[in-house]
Amino acid sequence: MLPVNPTNFDFHSHSAVSDGFLAPEQVARRAAGNGVDLWALTDHDDLGGLDEAKRIATELGMGFVPGVEISIEWKSVPIHVVGLGFDPSHPVLCEGLENLRQGRIERAQRMSDALAAIQIHGVFEGAKRYAGNPNLISRAHFARYLVEIGIAKDVPTVFQHYLTPGKPGYVDHRWATLEDAVNWITAAGGVVVVAHPGRYKMSGGDMRRFLDDFKDLGGHGIEVVCGSHSSDHVLHFARLVRHYALHASRGSDFHGPEESYVDLGRLPQLPEDLKPIWRLVK
Ligand code: AMP
Ligand code: MN
Ligand code: MN
Ligand code: MN
Repeated sequence: MLPVNPTNFDFHSHSAVSDGFLAPEQVARRAAGNGVDLWALTDHDDLGGLDEAKRIATELGMGFVPGVEISIEWKSVPIHVVGLGFDPSHPVLCEGLENLRQGRIERAQRMSDALAAIQIHGVFEGAKRYAGNPNLISRAHFARYLVEIGIAKDVPTVFQHYLTPGKPGYVDHRWATLEDAVNWITAAGGVVVVAHPGRYKMSGGDMRRFLDDFKDLGGHGIEVVCGSHSSDHVLHFARLVRHYALHASRGSDFHGPEESYVDLGRLPQLPEDLKPIWRLVK
């Protein structure tokens, strides 16, 4: 049962099924302990944590919504969209995500080759040790291993110098399209939200063109309040939500106690006039 009027929903979080540090059970317990009353686990490109997350959330009396964060590209810009409230066994969604995970393995090999070219060897093997799920390898696992071997002092610094566009360990990659992601989620009965829009390196005009496409394809909402948004981002994306008549989401993007902007549920409330995305989730 979902709460009729949640007061602390958090619709963006990760477990060790993708690049989070905690098992789904621990993420569920932490969310409930922080007062979250409606929670979504949204691992990158993988649904493997949802059964455990749902079971524990139900035990704890916390509302649960199945989620996923899908990696896409739009006009060559990597973007994340969050799917919520879908049927996790839907074959169209499952097959699409399986292809994304395969692509990640191939990308990881190219990243490792690119790092070997600057004399940093064996990074794919090292990164795999940090992956809680051998089928889901992420730049976050690469970054943790590169810190372990002393390449940089912490994960943000590794990203800054090695794993972002133009840096030696970054490789271009073909993710899913926006249309794919919207179709997979809506085919499975869910709703689609643009994740952390304040993080994309896009002009204002491109963001509007992206949102035009998102709306035309049947997207539902935007994360307005999220772990990586400043108060200016909140005001800005609240305006865009009103302009596009979309719904608003709220999510910490929690990855673990040491590597997160904000803890589960510890976020400002949405601006009051916005329509919260949970109203669309069954
Ligand atoms: P990937 O999906 O493999 O490209 O990896 C992206 C993940 O790396 C994100 O979901 C974050 O967890 C993490 N990440 C991306 N950029 C940074 C950054 N600048 N500092 C720390 N972590 C980052
Ligand atoms: Mn992540
Ligand atoms: Mn993301
Ligand atoms: Mn995320």
